[in-house]
Amino acid sequence: MCRICNKHQKTIDHLISGCSELAKAEYIQTHNKAAAYIHWATCKHYNIKVKDKYYEHEPSSVIENEEATILWDMPIQTDKEIKANRPDIAVKDRKERTCVLINKSVPNESNTSLKTIEKLFKYKDLETEIERMWRMRTTTVPVVIGALGLIKKGMEKYTSKIPGNIEIQELQKIVLLGTAHILRKTLSIK
Ligand SMILES: [Zn+2]
Repeated sequence: MCRICNKHQKTIDHLISGCSELAKAEYIQTHNKAAAYIHWATCKHYNIKVKDKYYEHEPSSVIENEEATILWDMPIQTDKEIKANRPDIAVKDRKERTCVLINKSVPNESNTSLKTIEKLFKYKDLETEIERMWRMRTTTVPVVIGALGLIKKGMEKYTSKIPGNIEIQELQKIVLLGTAHILRKTLSIK
């Protein structure tokens, strides 16, 4: 049995992405590190001053300059009530009149396709509402990487919509290091 939740079999699959107890802090940490990398690359794209190393970057809730506004884990106020109103990152580009809603997920390897569709579906209402309110072309971008680094074929199609130079290998590296850290920790519990 898993010693952390005491509910499920202790399998690698369970430990790296399925444990409800680990989800509370450990998975979130990996998720946030990967999202912070995207935030860092986007800030650089808009010439917003950031640290040289992405892993030292700590995203602020709102960053703004003449060109863009970047929201980090902030609920977006809408006229119509929308439950999924808090994308991981939202990028408003004033010049291009576009808004990109970025949503990151690190699921079990076998769930990467499902998660991608789920994210697109989940934020569709928000996408439509933002287009109407802000009159900006709005796109939801799912960034889904399996806990062991698996990516779905055609993922560049999504990441290329993010303003900034997003290197998929870098995201995979962050996720793998996070997973390795979780495994090292959980498997060493006696
Ligand atoms: Zn567990």
